[in-house]
Amino acid sequence: KPALYLVATPIGNLEEMTPRAISILASVDVIAAEDTRNTMKLLTHFGIKTRLLSHHQHNELQSAKGLVDLLDQGNSIAIVSDAGYPLISDPGSIVCKMVIEAGYSVIPVSGSNAMLNALVCSGLDTQHFLFYGFLKASEKERIRELHDLKYYPFTLVFYEAPHRIRKMLESCKEVLGNRQMCLARELTKKHEEFLRGTIEELLEVVEELKGEMVVIIEGSKEEKDPGEDQAMPLVHDQIKTYI
Ligand code: SAM
Repeated sequence: KPALYLVATPIGNLEEMTPRAISILASVDVIAAEDTRNTMKLLTHFGIKTRLLSHHQHNELQSAKGLVDLLDQGNSIAIVSDAGYPLISDPGSIVCKMVIEAGYSVIPVSGSNAMLNALVCSGLDTQHFLFYGFLKASEKERIRELHDLKYYPFTLVFYEAPHRIRKMLESCKEVLGNRQMCLARELTKKHEEFLRGTIEELLEVVEELKGEMVVIIEGSKEEKDPGEDQAMPLVHDQIKTYI
């Protein structure tokens, strides 16, 4: 029966691959992968010979239409990304929406994910959290995004690339203040590490850190100052004027 399977793959340790993920990937007609070369290595390791198609950010709309056509022809499809869940800071959301609109089933095949592994070991509040993914690379835009998050009382979870981590933490300190945080590095891999402390303390060591990382920052303990909206009237006033 045609359906779209969203299959999570390991974020480091190959033993995170579930038996169900292996059997689904082996039994679908087509696997749509973010990077076919990376996925080929995974498939080879598990002896899976299913046909592979490329499905990355730059061709997502076009390939989404192609995937719906394949479902129309009676094929079952699995989407995978390079690591963890597809659609989580990875391609797949456009095809998922189109497939739902076309009336097909979307089936999750659960597995590993960097955000949840990091969050549960962070030592910060796990009852309420906000997963933000990547902040913008441009400092101005990043600062604006952080202002929007400043008064959330929930733990904040970010993804970040190692070459941007210093600048990102500097912006966090500037906007959010010197909060408690955890940096989770190389999750499920040999050099897995959790660094916990204040943003300032982590800034002292980030220069030497390599590998993939998740940044978790405690939520706001402050109430929003009711005067603050009036202190940043520029955008709001403009909107009012045009409305
Ligand atoms: N789809 C993935 C998931 O479900 O977690 C996330 C993909 S996103 C493009 C890549 C980012 O995830 C990295 O920059 C890093 O922030 C985080 N990440 C992925 N694997 C990781 C790992 N083993 N350890 C720490 N962070 C990881």
